[in-house]
Amino acid sequence: MNKVPFLNFEPIHSEIKVEMLKAFEEVYDSYWYVLGNKVKQFEEEYASFNHTKACVGVSNGLDALHLSLKALGIGKGDEVIVPSNTYIATVLAVSYVGAKPVFVEPNIETYNIDFSKIEEAVTPNTKAIMPVHLYGQACEMQPIMDIAKKYNLFVIEDNAQSQGATYKEKITGSWGDINGTSFYPGKNLGAIGDAGAVTTNDENLAEKVKILRNYGSQKKYYNEFIGHNMRLDELQASFLSVKLKYLKEWTLKRQEIGAWYDEALKEIEGLILPKIAEGATHVYHLYVIRTKKRDELQSYLTEKGIGTLIHYPIPPHLQEAYESLGLKKGDFPIAEELAETCLSLPVWPGMGVEHVELISENIKAFFNEQI
Ligand SMILES: *Cc1c(COP(=O)(O)O)cnc(C)c1O
Repeated sequence: MNKVPFLNFEPIHSEIKVEMLKAFEEVYDSYWYVLGNKVKQFEEEYASFNHTKACVGVSNGLDALHLSLKALGIGKGDEVIVPSNTYIATVLAVSYVGAKPVFVEPNIETYNIDFSKIEEAVTPNTKAIMPVHLYGQACEMQPIMDIAKKYNLFVIEDNAQSQGATYKEKITGSWGDINGTSFYPGKNLGAIGDAGAVTTNDENLAEKVKILRNYGSQKKYYNEFIGHNMRLDELQASFLSVKLKYLKEWTLKRQEIGAWYDEALKEIEGLILPKIAEGATHVYHLYVIRTKKRDELQSYLTEKGIGTLIHYPIPPHLQEAYESLGLKKGDFPIAEELAETCLSLPVWPGMGVEHVELISENIKAFFNEQI
């Protein structure tokens, strides 16, 4: 072994291949491919996993967030608070309903939204807060819920990266009024294609999302709303049911890898490791380190056959797509600093301690060469 890819499905996908092929065959032979028993079954299983009354399977994570906002009636003239360092999908969902994203800086140590800065961003137009459990770490949800309560705001969790994480023992995706998650293949629970889900304890909101995902129609050919085609299909649902059974085991493996990195990298000068907020757990969708020499380190590791990625090189407020917000470099210095210094190391269930050692030795060698 002298190479480590950033992501490798092989260990887990080879382990479950027989079950997955059987799941495929069942759907194939059922002759029923959209909105059937497999979707219903997965929705029940995921709701149970996520400790929510309801789960609604949808086409992907972005659509889950979009439909969540739409079900709450958020739209034109409304403002939604989002972290300034998130994946663009969080912000796009806000734009889709015609609302305005309002950015709040993250905590530089945990990379999650800094709850102490939320209140100053609240205006009379603020309708909701969208915390993102970034990289797999739960946000500090209790203080966020307290602020939401104080100002009468909805909370929509972006749980795309953190299935199974908890804050004060309560699972992410169960705190907010309605929440979205993604089953993009590379997420902790990944489909064999695009998929996502909404989770909520509010049966009425769940019902609304069910109607919105299916053309705005409850009864075939009768349309109550201008809806969408944003359904989860039977095949992806049946694959997800197989994989969900393994999620806890795979999460433990991710956490073990996180602990190996913590230990192996702890004494490197110039290298910042991810920190976990008190009361939060981390499911290590990504293990994100920081250094001022990020680009040099990334090139060095690439040369050594070690795959890394940057999540994310450009914060949303500096994206061309959001030019119309009139924001500029310097407006969100913490998000900008993170974008310039963060580097994601390989984390995939099936990675061994020998992989982590190889990566860590190379990182150490890089920093030694710098002196
Ligand atoms: C992946 C992701 C999404 C979007 O999910 P898709 O299924 O790719 O549409 C949204 N938010 C975050 C934080 C993500 O990581």
